[in-house]
Amino acid sequence: MSLKLAARVEMPKQPAEERRRNFEEVTLGLTPDQARAEASRCLKCKARPCVSGCPVEVLIPEFLALVVQGEFEQAQGKIQERNSLPAICGRVCPQEIQCEQRCVLGRRGEPVAIGMLERFVADYAREGELARRQHCELKMVPQSLLKEGAPRIAVVGSGPAGLSCAAELAKRGYQVDIFESLHDTGGVLRYGIPEFRLPEAIIDYEVDYVKSLGVNIFTNVVVGLSLDLLELLESEEYQGAFLGTGAGLPYFLNIPGEGLNGVYSANEFLSRANLMKAYRFPHYDTPLKVGRRVAVVGAGNVAMDAARVAVRLGAEEVSIVYRRTREEMPARLEEIEHAEEEGVQFRLLANPIKIHGDEKGHVQAMECATMKLGEPDASNRRRPVVVPGSEFILELDTVIIAVGQGPNPLLTRRLPGLALNEKGNIVVFDEYGATSIQGIWAGGDAVSGAATVISAMGAGKRAAEGIDLWFKSRGQDSGI
Ligand code: FAD
Ligand code: SF4
Ligand code: SF4
Repeated sequence: MSLKLAARVEMPKQPAEERRRNFEEVTLGLTPDQARAEASRCLKCKARPCVSGCPVEVLIPEFLALVVQGEFEQAQGKIQERNSLPAICGRVCPQEIQCEQRCVLGRRGEPVAIGMLERFVADYAREGELARRQHCELKMVPQSLLKEGAPRIAVVGSGPAGLSCAAELAKRGYQVDIFESLHDTGGVLRYGIPEFRLPEAIIDYEVDYVKSLGVNIFTNVVVGLSLDLLELLESEEYQGAFLGTGAGLPYFLNIPGEGLNGVYSANEFLSRANLMKAYRFPHYDTPLKVGRRVAVVGAGNVAMDAARVAVRLGAEEVSIVYRRTREEMPARLEEIEHAEEEGVQFRLLANPIKIHGDEKGHVQAMECATMKLGEPDASNRRRPVVVPGSEFILELDTVIIAVGQGPNPLLTRRLPGLALNEKGNIVVFDEYGATSIQGIWAGGDAVSGAATVISAMGAGKRAAEGIDLWFKSRGQDSGI
């Protein structure tokens, strides 16, 4: 006899026609009843394969059991034992290739919606906390975890890697200062991922949680320019450092015309829209004209975000230009579908070869070649090959290049002796992220190249463990 599985609860979302014109969150979140119903699908498997699919090993069956009982705030505490940023991960983690991919229910139907439930729990706890704060005029209470005489650690970068390393170190009793070059915290979470996928209030709240653990965050500090890291370590002002500097340097296509007005890197375009609030112009002084026709080159999450921002800024025709087919597109399926629903078009098997400008030096058109797929390349995806004589012209006002990012060399070139690979990523020598310089650890995109929020968080957390082990191995005078 085969048992019939209950269907997975569907996430409610704003209708596509409505959301095309606003920056409000697309997905609306589950109700308590929906959350309990979804969590009750969990089979409480003894082997817990879902947990090993999560890079920070969230205690999934335990938090789901608390959701079933309606103990939502306790469920939040259970998640926070392993994950300092649950409302963020519940929204942007590629769950379908991590925790949910390992869920046994996926073999017979649809896996438990672990990401949606993590988001529900975190939002519920956040709303409760905010209501209590408003009612009692309380601020989030700083927890006194600091151990006397504990080593002081400098964390460079306030993206997910830096925040998670700092939170874990603070929980273990270390003094932690984060230095961030931008005027606000969060790294890509804030300047890259648009508000309609990850609202700012959520980032603020989760950063506040990290601060409540006793972590200090100093913004507008470019380490390598305004602070010399080696000097800080040599003077023993800090006893160790973690580099979570990300991969914020955009790659370009290296084709003629990339210097024309109206050509942006996705990084610049999204930063103007998100961090500098161009979509609230003239309330914010950041004009960002997209014109009528926009092409975004690339097909990862970054490209989907740029295309969907362009739609919301009023462009009439927005297309993704990609040299392979839909099957090879690296973006999450959910993001591709949302983009399609919002009217983004896909010009597949098309490769830009030249951007043409008008007499004023502004983009006018992009010349592309039609491609076909050949034999698999090093990435195991079929290599796109030009179809001879197939060139065509797309008339455009704006081109956004979203073909990847690499690490920014600003800090690394000021750290002689820091081993880097041929792409400029920091080389680490153990699972904890120890670099070639004693006392400096690294993790996140700066090491792996552009990856995911949760993998950066996992690396930050492991580095904190490594730092802790190192100080413990040095004996009592560390204070830990
Ligand atoms: P970052 O988030 O890049 O943070 C690094 C921080 O270090 C930055 O704030 C930077 O200003 C700061 N910094 C750099 N150098 C210095 C210095 N010298 N001094 C001081 N501060 C410095 N991942 C997902 O899992 N899901 C998604 O949906 C998703 N969407 C994405 C959408 C976009 C548009 C982009 C660009 C990326 C997306 N990613 C997504 C990838 C994910 O955001 C990154 O993998 C992750 O943010 C990496 O974290 P990190 O902490 O290593 O680096
Ligand atoms: Fe899944 Fe991400 Fe949550 Fe881990 S942090 S359980 S991978 S949604
Ligand atoms: Fe529950 Fe799926 Fe994890 Fe099993 S694998 S414990 S069903 S979430």
